[in-house]
Amino acid sequence: TPTIGVLALQGDVREHLTALAAADAAAVSVRRPAELAAVDGLVIPGGESTTISKLAALFGLTEPLREAIRGGLPVYGSCAGLIMLADKILDPRSGQETFGGIDMIVRRNAFGRQNESFEASVDVRGVQGGPVEGVFIRAPWVESVGAGVEVLAEHGGHIVAVRQGNALATSFHPELTGDHRVHELFVAAVRTGS
Ligand code: GLN
Repeated sequence: TPTIGVLALQGDVREHLTALAAADAAAVSVRRPAELAAVDGLVIPGGESTTISKLAALFGLTEPLREAIRGGLPVYGSCAGLIMLADKILDPRSGQETFGGIDMIVRRNAFGRQNESFEASVDVRGVQGGPVEGVFIRAPWVESVGAGVEVLAEHGGHIVAVRQGNALATSFHPELTGDHRVHELFVAAVRTGS
């Protein structure tokens, strides 16, 4: 059984822990570099990316996380977590930094005011058995990707799920639906060590 951490600085940590456990991983919270060093994979939850960015710096996690991701640690980010995995944010708040790992540019709060939160069926490449119900909450979209990035899903003509090597990210929150197939996809990637 792989041990998978959830970055527990801010955001919907508990929901990811529950989804990972349902997907047959040993799920643990990660707040310190020593805890990061002990996991086989890491989830970066949804929440507020500016807050996660600041708290990661405060907890001395920014550099260890960047290094771990560069070193091949499997990571999965949902919503704010997707933003944290972007090499570049189109409209960063001042001081907002990401961990990076995916060669993409993201736009925060991209889906606009009328649609700040909504649900939509999303076909995710690699997820069997039909579309997943995507919960989008002030969600980012992926504005553009580099050549090494695989687009896994789009919604309304915008990229909402991607993978590059060891890093997986979705604009939406599968941890809020009780459908654990996206977490299963990630756990499977952790098992094969990619
Ligand atoms: N809008 C948030 C941000 O920019 C993300 C929202 C979410 O994670 N549900 O970080």
